[in-house]
Amino acid sequence: MERLGFGQYAADHQFAMTYRDGQWQNPRIEPFSPLSLSPFALGLHYGQTVFEGMKAFRQDNGKIAIFRPDRHHERFNHSLARMCMPPVPADWFIDGLKALVDIDRAWVPDGDGQALYIRPFMFATEARLGLKIAEEYEFMIVTTPVEGFYPKPIKVKVETEYVRAAEGGTGMAKCGGNYGGALYPTQLARQAGYEQVIWTDAKNHEYLEELGTMNLMLIQNGTVVTPPLRGTILDGITRDSLLTLAAHLGLPVEQKALTVTDLQNGLVDGSITEVFGAGTAAIVAPISTIGIHGKDYNLPTLDQPLHRTLKQSLLNIQHGKSHDCFGWNVLV
Ligand SMILES: *Cc1c(COP(=O)(O)O)cnc(C)c1O
Repeated sequence: MERLGFGQYAADHQFAMTYRDGQWQNPRIEPFSPLSLSPFALGLHYGQTVFEGMKAFRQDNGKIAIFRPDRHHERFNHSLARMCMPPVPADWFIDGLKALVDIDRAWVPDGDGQALYIRPFMFATEARLGLKIAEEYEFMIVTTPVEGFYPKPIKVKVETEYVRAAEGGTGMAKCGGNYGGALYPTQLARQAGYEQVIWTDAKNHEYLEELGTMNLMLIQNGTVVTPPLRGTILDGITRDSLLTLAAHLGLPVEQKALTVTDLQNGLVDGSITEVFGAGTAAIVAPISTIGIHGKDYNLPTLDQPLHRTLKQSLLNIQHGKSHDCFGWNVLV
């Protein structure tokens, strides 16, 4: 399959399960189909919606493996707890995933970097217009085949006016509202010629946090550096995997707070040689230009950038080309 893009085609089936009367019921796999929902459904009005995003890869031996579904399940339940939504038990989540990918296994593409993107999500369905914690939910999983991204390096802007997440807010949760709120500042950045923003802390716009759907990583004096998780940053599984792999490859790794000024200085004096986003969709998205306070800074073009080595090492594990020494692949 060529030119799959992202999220254009739905596979044939969906998994669904209903939460009612204090328990999960009626787990089912059914044809991909539109939903029937009361216009009073609480999730449509007050934002009780949470999602995950992961991938299933075709291995070189033809088998299919889902990448780190246990970590995605854990994060899903953390997000749900923050939104007062009931947890989804691990066996339902993992078995639902496996059964769905299995029935639609023909949809898992086999090109290098291509995958079946898996979107578990949950929303409040209780039909009650007044604001309250809902007592009825639907948990669903849908899938879509996606291209292996070898994206052109992107141009981003350090955002120092708008905010994605404040301390004590919902930044660490993959809940719908975080993304709705980010659309407008991202649109403004697009109009100014940038593709995405690098968010900074809500208090002083001093510390670098992450991108729209990717964690921020950079190479500073040969060290792989990323901001620490402080409640406002999403705990990315790609971030964790790349940090683990980098250490495994013998690279120095550091989680440390980075200011906008640190970034600016590092780009000027050449100590920061690579900046990239890390997330399930692109795995690694290299950045070529960063706008800081109205001035653009260019990253050098390297022959052997570390971000490419890290991405390839991760893809090799995901496609079963190298030994899965961390036990990340779960076979379907
Ligand atoms: C999903 C997401 C990421 C990346 O997480 P992965 O688990 O690596 O896909 C990073 N930041 C935000 C805001 C996200 O929504």
